[in-house]
Amino acid sequence: MSSSTVSKLDDLAGLAGAKRVIRQVATGKSAVHALLLYGAKGSGKNALARLLSQAWLCQHPGEDGADGTCRACGAFARGTSADFLYIGPTGPSSIIRVAAIVESKDKDKDDPVPLLEFFRTPPLMARHKVVMIEQAHRMNRDAFNSLLKTLEEPHPHARIVLTTDMISAVPATILSRCLGVACELPTHEEMVRLYPEATPADLLLSEGAPGRTAHVLAHADRYRAIYEFAESLPTRSPGGALVASEQFRSICEGIEKALGCGARAAQAEALETLAIALSRSKTADPRWSQKVLEAHRRVVGNASIGLALDALFTGILAR
Ligand SMILES: [Zn+2]
Repeated sequence: MSSSTVSKLDDLAGLAGAKRVIRQVATGKSAVHALLLYGAKGSGKNALARLLSQAWLCQHPGEDGADGTCRACGAFARGTSADFLYIGPTGPSSIIRVAAIVESKDKDKDDPVPLLEFFRTPPLMARHKVVMIEQAHRMNRDAFNSLLKTLEEPHPHARIVLTTDMISAVPATILSRCLGVACELPTHEEMVRLYPEATPADLLLSEGAPGRTAHVLAHADRYRAIYEFAESLPTRSPGGALVASEQFRSICEGIEKALGCGARAAQAEALETLAIALSRSKTADPRWSQKVLEAHRRVVGNASIGLALDALFTGILAR
């Protein structure tokens, strides 16, 4: 289930502790105005941040968050809420610029309203004005400093939820003004219960993250092909490097078809998954996953996929 289709707290896998906190905040039992949800990629923190945003906007929130039926909820679901502002990293460097927080020279014509301007007016139809900042650690220093001012003197109607998978990169001044909520990955037993159809290989490739598991299961044949390929590598001879390269290329094409993404993105995804499979394999050489990640970097940096794979498997199989 992707984060955009989850509409109730109960629909979100795992995260029992975090959901308890969110219920308190959403129903107004806790008057916190800024939260930072942190946890590994795929833990569900962004889906949870959206659910909290909607609950803050909703005119009649209950124990399970927003009611989903009021006008504020309707506008949020259609993506037209004037009381909700989403901020995320943009551009090739994936940075949240200061223009996202405060009116500045640095402004781009496609930039949404900056956060400070957004909070200046009261909500139109929702209970609060809500800003969600995804990947908050990607803010540059000016952006952090501007955000700090808002956190120090919040408008009564202002609510902010930040998410990050790199809490160590968020300045302490920000951390001390937000309620930090850990979004922990489920235990292996919980994952088996949540996804009874997942094979051990599916769970291994998902690295225990529910968001990732749903994705892997939706394209299970393609991902299992990568797992089987990884398991076959230790049994191959040095002469088989070019055959392996050829086979892995067709696996990349399969991923590209399944995900409907560009060739380069599919190759990057396939190589990253191969690195995960090799790093968990009992028979593979522990250095192989490192070599795969090097090839991944070259491919992302626009190297020819054919040359990168030939060099990779020649290196691996030569031992
Ligand atoms: Zn509502």
